[in-house]
Amino acid sequence: MINFGYARANDVAEAVRLIAADPNAKFIAGGTNLVDLMKEDVERPTSLIDITRLPLTKVEETSGGGLRIGALVPNSDLAFHPLIGQRYPVLGSAILAGASQQLRNMASTGGNLLQRTRCAYFYDTATPCNKREPGSGCSAINGINRGHAILGTSEACIAVHPSDMCVALRVLDATVHVAGPSGERAIAFADFHRLPGDTPQRDTNLGRDEIITAIELPAQGFTKNYTYLKIRDRLSYAFALVSVAVGLEMDGNTIRQARFALGGVAHKPWRDPTAEAALNGQTASPEVFRRAADTLLRDAKGYAHNTFKIELARRATIRALSQAARGTPQSQSNKKIV
Ligand SMILES: Cc1cc2nc3c(=O)[nH]c(=O)nc-3n(C[C@H](O)[C@H](O)[C@H](O)COP(=O)(O)OP(=O)(O)OC[C@H]3O[C@@H](n4cnc5c(N)ncnc54)[C@H](O)[C@@H]3O)c2cc1C
Ligand code: SF4
Repeated sequence: MINFGYARANDVAEAVRLIAADPNAKFIAGGTNLVDLMKEDVERPTSLIDITRLPLTKVEETSGGGLRIGALVPNSDLAFHPLIGQRYPVLGSAILAGASQQLRNMASTGGNLLQRTRCAYFYDTATPCNKREPGSGCSAINGINRGHAILGTSEACIAVHPSDMCVALRVLDATVHVAGPSGERAIAFADFHRLPGDTPQRDTNLGRDEIITAIELPAQGFTKNYTYLKIRDRLSYAFALVSVAVGLEMDGNTIRQARFALGGVAHKPWRDPTAEAALNGQTASPEVFRRAADTLLRDAKGYAHNTFKIELARRATIRALSQAARGTPQSQSNKKIV
């Protein structure tokens, strides 16, 4: 590990001032991703700006009937928050499907959005990787790519975003609030993460000198017909091969509104308005769900080892939509075990 400086910010303005003053500084929150990357020599910040004391730890109701979640709310606290359980159960389920209890206790809401890909070549500094070292090449395209993307890839990078929480936030149409040297701004969740294109080193549209302060959820939470389905190699403590978050508004057996997004298949949570529109007004049935899944995956493309993901994603989508329509989410409970 190389030497690095350390400073603790006492308020958001100071955090922004500190990060703006050093182009190679990084914020540290729970440290569950950043410290690993520093140990592997993938991230080499010249200094760490500790933001853990900032007053961003509240979950508050908004005047519009939604929730504002501070960027430093730990993943565990958020998953078990009563208002999440009552009003946004798909979010609690998605968080609890990720990592382990110990990691979720440390991991922050803001840090979860900014966790980096788990592509093994990204972690292996002996191999070329455009995300780690722009212009060096992509070892995964002709390498071991079983866990890699099937949608939205480029010739520069086929990595996936590993977060579970973000897939649910995409379905909920969340907004990311950020602060930087020029003030505050809000970024729609759909625009927060990027596709790799020819700049895979940039995962998000967050400015280098900006800090995430909060995530806002609109009022609509899909309390009855929802699911988060995660398919992985082990039953727990593993990243998604494919995951699906679903929120439906039902009128009897008729779908009034459908939202669904895939995780583990692209550089960002994958949602498609055309596939969703095809469900609106339809009677819930396996055939209707199959058509929606086919539409969602119409541009999917496999590589040497991950073609199986296309069929896996199709089946997982159909299953998740069926579970949500029946009101029987098969997902981890966010009732606290005492
Ligand atoms: C073994 C293991 C298994 C895991 N399994 C899963 C899983 O199955 N599913 C899943 O979704 N996740 C999983 N995770 C990832 C985990 O959820 C993330 O590491 C965690 O959410 C990151 O949050 P953090 O607060 O620790 O971030 P940090 O490590 O502190 O920071 C991560 C990045 O975010 C930046 N940052 C942090 N907060 C802010 C902010 N407020 N504003 C601007 N920048 C900020 C940091 O500078 C850094 O670049 C796993 C992690 C590990 C180690
Ligand atoms: S897929 Fe992306 S992260 Fe993985 S080796 Fe290629 S460029 Fe790097």
